[in-house]
Amino acid sequence: MIDFSNHEIWFITGSQHLYGDDVLKQVSINSQQIASYLNSETDIPIKIVTKPVLTDPAAIDSLCTSANQTKNCIGLITWMHTFSPSKMWISGLKKLIKPFAHLHTQFNQEIPWQTIDMDYMNLHQSAHGGREFGHICARLKINRKVIVGHWKNPETHKDLDTWMRSVAAWHDSQNMKIARIGDNMREVAVTEGDKVQAQQDLGYSVNGYGVGDLVQHIQSATDKQIINLCNEYAELYTLADSLKVNAVQHQSLRDAAAIELGLRSFLTEGNFQAFTNTFENLHGMKQLPGIATQRLMSDGYGFGAEGDWKHAALVRTMKVMAHNLQGGTSFMEDYTYHFAPDKASVLGAHMLEICPSIANDKPSCEIHPLGIGGKEDPVRLVFNSTTGPAINASIIDLGGRFRMLVNDVTSIEPSHDLPKLPVARVLWDPQPNLKQSATAWIYAGGAHHTCLSFALNKEHLIDFAQIANLELLMIDKSTTIEDFNNQIRWNDLAYSLSIK
Ligand code: MN
Repeated sequence: MIDFSNHEIWFITGSQHLYGDDVLKQVSINSQQIASYLNSETDIPIKIVTKPVLTDPAAIDSLCTSANQTKNCIGLITWMHTFSPSKMWISGLKKLIKPFAHLHTQFNQEIPWQTIDMDYMNLHQSAHGGREFGHICARLKINRKVIVGHWKNPETHKDLDTWMRSVAAWHDSQNMKIARIGDNMREVAVTEGDKVQAQQDLGYSVNGYGVGDLVQHIQSATDKQIINLCNEYAELYTLADSLKVNAVQHQSLRDAAAIELGLRSFLTEGNFQAFTNTFENLHGMKQLPGIATQRLMSDGYGFGAEGDWKHAALVRTMKVMAHNLQGGTSFMEDYTYHFAPDKASVLGAHMLEICPSIANDKPSCEIHPLGIGGKEDPVRLVFNSTTGPAINASIIDLGGRFRMLVNDVTSIEPSHDLPKLPVARVLWDPQPNLKQSATAWIYAGGAHHTCLSFALNKEHLIDFAQIANLELLMIDKSTTIEDFNNQIRWNDLAYSLSIK
């Protein structure tokens, strides 16, 4: 359900008429060569489409208008091969609503020391042409990504890959529909928020649905569908004995399968990319969706528990960014601390809904009572997560605007088995350490819900936040509380001045 194949990034080369036709022909050939080289690289995830070299204000204006109107164009790369006087760009850039990266590269990697002359210098002017372009973008206060490096350098490709993924996620966010099944967990603040402001700032729409709308779909699941899905569970997961065919709790597995079939049908029919539910609104359902939610997340749906639509959106956004990358991405919650004197860690989990994309092994499919909600025991997948570097991200509503928090973490192997813990879980060390990380997170008002990803790094979210004009506070190995609190103070001022 995540697909980049129709997306295009337009490659725009700026120049001017001053140099004559021969130079402009060469500029055009060179820009096509760069674009086709990048298209042939497997680490560039989205197709690049070369556009004619731009040499005057009317052409720039028309190109920007066309980019805005072209559905498949999700962003642009701009490159100044020569000098392109940037007053020519004002009108076009003021209209442009698609995100762009300014690729500050140069056609030739090295200076040809023995042959370089003024003709060569006139053709290869990116070093100052790019600065003229950067100046007008800064003066117009346009959010954009600046990528500096030679176009054959793998580091440049990595920067482009990261940025393109954030652009694809931004594009997805503009069209995202979130179903809020039931409302919010009662009295909880951080999962609430201004859905209208979210649509203004981030594009996605959140609308409420009664549980009965979903129950109709669950009841429509056929016996054959339910049997097939139970068989799929048995193939993919280690099924608890009590859930097997003819065993005492097999009916609960069938009920869980019916819930998954119903949820899928409901989400497909409404063309939703993300959803929420809450254990306090389950009228007509036998169980809180566990395995259903886990498997839907694994397929690319965003999910937030207890009505948390902001994290449903964030999980979907991060799954789009992570498309076809190694490592999973899941809804998460800081659950319990391990305050060991030598090394403090966080045990992350949820009541049920952790995505099996982060599982380190074949999950086991189990059934256990749930202490809250007053429904039948829910079926869930239980597993430990993979280990290694990851990020934990959260988004909160501050009233009038949103704040994103990102923490670098390292997932570690639990030092003990957890034989009585009936949920999927992750143990992680936050950077710079639990004391500093949790202090900063709490000063910033970060949520207990997050999205954890092994596929992404902070750069993906930094690029996304820049496109979205979203505040992003980073907690990493260099964080100090004094600097962090100053950032909060200064950002509060900066964003209050820039609110439109
Ligand atoms: Mn929760």
